[in-house]
Amino acid sequence: MPTSSFPAERILLGPGPSPVPARVLHALGAPTLGHLDPQYLSIMDETCESLRQVFQTRNALTFPVSGTGMAGMECLAVNLVEPGDEVIIGVNGVFGGRMKDVMERCGATVHALEAPWGEVFTLEQVAAALDRHPRAKIVALVHAETSTGAHQPLEGFADLVHSKGALFVVDAVTSLGGHELRVDDWGIDAIYSGTQKCLSCPPGLSPVSFGERALARMDARKTKPQSWYLDVSMLRKYYLSGGVSGGGGARVYHHTAPINMTYALREALAIVLEEGLEARIARHAAMHQRLRRGLEAMGLSYIPKRSLHTLNCIGIPAGADDAATRRRLLEDYGIEIGAGLGVMAGKAWRIGLMGHGATIRNVDLVLAALRNVLA
Ligand SMILES: *Cc1c(COP(=O)(O)O)cnc(C)c1O
Repeated sequence: MPTSSFPAERILLGPGPSPVPARVLHALGAPTLGHLDPQYLSIMDETCESLRQVFQTRNALTFPVSGTGMAGMECLAVNLVEPGDEVIIGVNGVFGGRMKDVMERCGATVHALEAPWGEVFTLEQVAAALDRHPRAKIVALVHAETSTGAHQPLEGFADLVHSKGALFVVDAVTSLGGHELRVDDWGIDAIYSGTQKCLSCPPGLSPVSFGERALARMDARKTKPQSWYLDVSMLRKYYLSGGVSGGGGARVYHHTAPINMTYALREALAIVLEEGLEARIARHAAMHQRLRRGLEAMGLSYIPKRSLHTLNCIGIPAGADDAATRRRLLEDYGIEIGAGLGVMAGKAWRIGLMGHGATIRNVDLVLAALRNVLA
């Protein structure tokens, strides 16, 4: 065990945070600017532009919310939901369940569309839910359900959702930068992510993006969002130069932006774009396949039918001690993997291959370590 107060260097192969490249940690240590300094504002603009590229969107209202992924979830909920609104949420794991809780706290009547943990939703199931609840104003799905490792397809849902006058809302916390995700092509109206999963940046910011339909919904609100801190009608006056419609207005102070985290995110996004989105997504696919071959050769099996590349959720083999295995991986090898979450506690392990962590070196290392510990 390390005895100094300086943290050990772990190999983070859990459900997040993922390993952070030295370049990003170095960026965190750059001099702190004022949040209205023109130099900082141009760094923020550049960060938002990179986020648009990574989200594959032209949405002007794309920026990092101050806070982790959950802040992004709350930001979408408080701005898009008004008390009494009906919403449909796909609940097939912990994070769909959280979205239900968060939207209920905003006063929504939530119709949970449920699926067994590890499964995903079909177009037909969503269509049937919209038929049952024609007044629904939002359909929300989790692209990458980190608690089960299930990969929810998103293509084709937007047309259906829009034809009923609802907004299509997506949790992309564990997919942005690791899985194919086309916000504009797939018709997603509002989306949030996090920095510490496939972007390989420390936790602390939550990239969000709102399209035209979502903007119109927010502009038509009769009530103020319950959260002052996350009220997009104020945040947009700071994050967007000249506001959404352009026009060169001044920036309006709302809260002090987390300056140094913005440097880190800008650097992390630069790394993503240098690699190229397509190459990065292909790397995540290849590393997942390499891990999967190794795990299955050891007799371990995947829980979800349609597995994520970024998060591998496997059943704990009979006879293995859950906590002792993870403790030995951590203490003997410095490797962190995730325990099962929610109903999967004690039944599953979750191995994340996200961003900087998705390498041949890490895949082969975790396979060898697991083989030794289980032997
Ligand atoms: C990690 C995660 C979140 C929450 O993000 P935090 O950064 O922990 O607040 C939300 N949704 C999904 C799918 C996640 O994996």
